[in-house]
Amino acid sequence: MDLAAVLNDVATAIEPQRGSGKVADYIPALAEVDPNGFGMSVVTVSGECFAVGQADHPFSLQSVTKVMSLTLALEILGDPFWERSGREPSGDPFNSLVQLEHENGIPRNPLINAGALVSTDVLVSRHGRDGAVEAILKFATELADGEPVRIDSRVAASERETGFRNAALANFIRSFGNLHNPPEDVLHVYFHQCALEMSCKGLSRAMLYLANRGRDPVTGRQVVSERRARRINAIMMTCGHYDASGDFAFHVGLPGKSGVGGGIIAIAPGQLSVAVWAPGLSPQGNSLVGTLALEKFTSLTGLSVF
Ligand code: GLU
Repeated sequence: MDLAAVLNDVATAIEPQRGSGKVADYIPALAEVDPNGFGMSVVTVSGECFAVGQADHPFSLQSVTKVMSLTLALEILGDPFWERSGREPSGDPFNSLVQLEHENGIPRNPLINAGALVSTDVLVSRHGRDGAVEAILKFATELADGEPVRIDSRVAASERETGFRNAALANFIRSFGNLHNPPEDVLHVYFHQCALEMSCKGLSRAMLYLANRGRDPVTGRQVVSERRARRINAIMMTCGHYDASGDFAFHVGLPGKSGVGGGIIAIAPGQLSVAVWAPGLSPQGNSLVGTLALEKFTSLTGLSVF
């Protein structure tokens, strides 16, 4: 399969839609992003890289990092993590509070904000507040294998200034005893994690282990067990796009995770990882053009898991 040609075809196909969707505007650093930005990058399990557009352009990973914090939390707690988080799609917006009350502070899944706060809490218990930020940054940096990774402190500060709903979630979960650390410490880590910045090239490289049974095929590092990689992919498939997860499975057919910075990572198990960035969002907060690009990509390659 000529993946370079496929990516060029994808870029041509999305051109008429470029710039559509609404760029996240809840903080200045995201509102200033060029709505016409578009990049896409693929890394195969044999280590080949292909890219199109602004694949080197760093963007705010936002909720894409929920996969990283989940991975680290599972490595710390193992299966008992699932006593503190469900693994069902929520059918609700990313920052919804309503289910939490009915479900006694146990978030529906780890890829909505409530669940990500629980993952982050596990990291704070293990590493302390500042150590947890370092642990996430170190994990992403090692996986990116030389591609740049940084935390944008301006984004982290704005997340804190505007993060009233996340603060409400953290305090609410804590009231049920499902956060073990002070909410302000957990929020500090969560806001820094959201502010992690990478390019499509870096992101597709970093998440390659999920396409290769948990082992980074380039460095040989077993990042997680095969079983765990399979399960993380299952959660990305069912919960990675909030209340549009079913729609993403329907149109794209790959495990994926989106962020309001306009990035999406998707995994074709046994084959490749693919990252796309286009900042305009759908009403559910997922990259509009990014999703279209991935739909075109799986149509052209036949790489859906279905
Ligand atoms: N910083 C955002 C929040 O927690 C991230 C949401 C997202 O990327 O979907 O509200």
